[in-house]
Amino acid sequence: MRCVICGIRISTVSTVDEAIEEGWTSYFYDGQTEIEVACPACTHALLQEGEEGEMEVKKEFRGKLKYLDEGSDEAWQDHSEVVMAVLENEPGKLN
Ligand SMILES: [Zn+2]
Repeated sequence: MRCVICGIRISTVSTVDEAIEEGWTSYFYDGQTEIEVACPACTHALLQEGEEGEMEVKKEFRGKLKYLDEGSDEAWQDHSEVVMAVLENEPGKLN
């Protein structure tokens, strides 16, 4: 399981259900686009529950996030406000 926003990986879970129990978001929407998968830190920092009950990118971050695709490993965010929001939620990333 890898977070498409920050690229963090967890190997301790093998199924989506287990990941969700750990606080991961299995999919969310950025505008009309459905995107998988976000870690707990990114979920907390960047996502919110939308009107339909689906997870979506908070308005202030919509259109600003870069998403990793399968082939690439490093695509850190261009926008410092996104970086700061995630780091505040996961201080361990500073190491
Ligand atoms: Zn993340």
